[in-house]
Amino acid sequence: MAWAGAALALIVALTFAMCFFALNKTAAEAQRLTVVIDAGHGGIDGGVVGRVTGTKESEINLAIARLLQERFEDAGFRVVMTRQTEAGLYGAATSGYKRRDMQKRAEIIDKSNPAMVLSVHQNYFPVAARRGGQVFFRADSAPSHTLACMIQSALNEMPESVRASQPLAGDYYILNCSDYPSVIVECGFLSNEEDEALLLSQDYREAIADAVCRGALGFLSSSAGA
Ligand SMILES: [Zn+2]
Repeated sequence: MAWAGAALALIVALTFAMCFFALNKTAAEAQRLTVVIDAGHGGIDGGVVGRVTGTKESEINLAIARLLQERFEDAGFRVVMTRQTEAGLYGAATSGYKRRDMQKRAEIIDKSNPAMVLSVHQNYFPVAARRGGQVFFRADSAPSHTLACMIQSALNEMPESVRASQPLAGDYYILNCSDYPSVIVECGFLSNEEDEALLLSQDYREAIADAVCRGALGFLSSSAGA
């Protein structure tokens, strides 16, 4: 019967149209989401240094930030890096450079309209036994707290993790400079010999980037469903 054929053709056409729309919508949503990845320190500000090897925190931060960039780009996000080289963001290395460096990072975050900000750092503590990843968030930002919990759990689940840490509230410029969900991920302690050795290995850097990415994607899917 002709009408049945016509109805079938219409259903097929509608199904194609709906699939096409759904695919485009997914692609558009992925394009819209931006992640700012902030490699802490840089230039004359090397951050803390490894107790054994003297490796600068700024170098490790950048290496892990680049691995995160790869992962988020592969997952379809737009990634904005606050710094892409070993140089700092302060312009001339004159007085007030730290303030200018931080303001530049805030400006980049502000312009990017990100779904989240991940600031990568390494820790240092006078007691050399202290180890492991530690995530910081701003106390009055509920989404930042959720993001911090997700990333902290992913870090705690790593086989190298020695204890289950809770994310901590912190009063830091990079967390306070915007209202976007923002965390500082201290990947490990350069004051601890085992952590330092791990943070110098490519495999561990990749594993840290995987864990941070897993936590961050968990946060995005939970906030999308909310
Ligand atoms: Zn730092």
